Amino acid sequence: MRESDPIPKKPRAVSCPTCAKPVAWEPASSWRPFCSERCKLIDIGAWASEAYRVPGPELDPGEDGDDVPPL
Ligand SMILES: [Zn+2]
Repeated sequence: MRESDPIPKKPRAVSCPTCAKPVAWEPASSWRPFCSERCKLIDIGAWASEAYRVPGPELDPGEDGDDVPPL
């Protein structure tokens, strides 16, 4: 009986958040979880444009009772 059973190394992979392409989760993939620098920049750009969105008239305080717990 052998205790040293070779465990099949399953390469971890993730899907690129931008293009859904499988990306190997390893140090070699320097842009993980993105497949490339391009996809990383695209995602960051999308996030930034969301973050820098100026709250305009669509923000209507009082209308949305998000802060008030329903009783
Ligand atoms: Zn990608």
